[in-house]
Amino acid sequence: MFEHRIFNFAPGPATLPEEVLAQAGPDLLSWQGLGAGVLEVSHRGPAFMQCYFDAIQHLRDLMSIPQNYKILFLHGGAIGQNAAIPLNLMRLGKSGPQADFIISGLWTQKSRLEASKFGTARIAASSDQNQFRQIPERDTWDLSPDSAYVHLCDNETVGGVEFPDAPHVGQIPLVADFSSSILSKSIDVSQYGVIFAGAQKNIGAAGLTIVIVREDLLGYAMPTTPSIWDWQIQAQNDSMINTPCTFAIYIAGEVFKWLKKQGGIPHIEKVNRQKAQILYTLLDNSSLYVNHVDPRHRSKMNIPFFLKDESLNERFISQAAAAGLIGLKGHKSVGGMRASIYNAMSLAGIQSLAEFMQEFERLA
Ligand code: PMP
Repeated sequence: MFEHRIFNFAPGPATLPEEVLAQAGPDLLSWQGLGAGVLEVSHRGPAFMQCYFDAIQHLRDLMSIPQNYKILFLHGGAIGQNAAIPLNLMRLGKSGPQADFIISGLWTQKSRLEASKFGTARIAASSDQNQFRQIPERDTWDLSPDSAYVHLCDNETVGGVEFPDAPHVGQIPLVADFSSSILSKSIDVSQYGVIFAGAQKNIGAAGLTIVIVREDLLGYAMPTTPSIWDWQIQAQNDSMINTPCTFAIYIAGEVFKWLKKQGGIPHIEKVNRQKAQILYTLLDNSSLYVNHVDPRHRSKMNIPFFLKDESLNERFISQAAAAGLIGLKGHKSVGGMRASIYNAMSLAGIQSLAEFMQEFERLA
């Protein structure tokens, strides 16, 4: 493989499997023997349509998505869905447009703010008093029977908190942002009404947004919903009411095939646990580094940590870069460091980071 590649711990866009990138190179020049690259062919031509349907099927297989769920490949990122979700679902509120939010960090705060443009966006629970170091305890949730849905973020990419499993919310549909944890572990899709995720972390290229929606939730969009955000219209048109992000869909298909070759979700979940364990063990045994997240809710994808002596931050980042470890700077809203360790981050990358951190601490 390419000898100059380094270990990239960026939160997204993030590192991708080398095999996929190596295949993408030649496919840009000529794809499937067509003499034209994958970026250059019609989205409605037979080659791309096959690529699209194959990608959908691979995702259905990998996540065991039941047949009564539609899979949409859209644009606009998870931020786009923050508007699309209330537009499509809020009308299901019993006494007007309303939804409940479980606030566990930056991304659920943003989701709620956007939804509040379309109706009542209730805070049903929040861990802000706790600096978002945990998921709000389930017995504190104040859910309204009048709400159209309950919105949560499975894995808060900035704060590094993750739901251990799908919470029970009764009959009200659960809507979950899986941007940074989709395909990292087994997910019981049947527990959710809607799962959505940007592709630029565990799936591939920025631009593609995955929406997995239970069929009975289609058809309730507010009349003013732009067609591009109307899930039912998109579902009826194979997500192609306009030109889809063909390259990102192609990459997603290749990543899905790569994941199947690795052994699918059961295998990657095991490796992901092992990777996270190595870093959390290091952090918990260190006198220089600290992670503040409640151990029950620690993310296996994004591991934020702080140097107790913050004056060493710059040196940490620059020496890490010199050692071939990049993307470790924490989100600007919280500072410190963060290691994002999605599926494509190898165990070798984790070991390399762990060795660097131990050596840095020894010399500090
Ligand atoms: N939700 C989560 C959990 C995220 O991590 C991100 C991006 N980091 C977003 C939403 C926003 O995604 P996008 O930039 O694709 O709109």
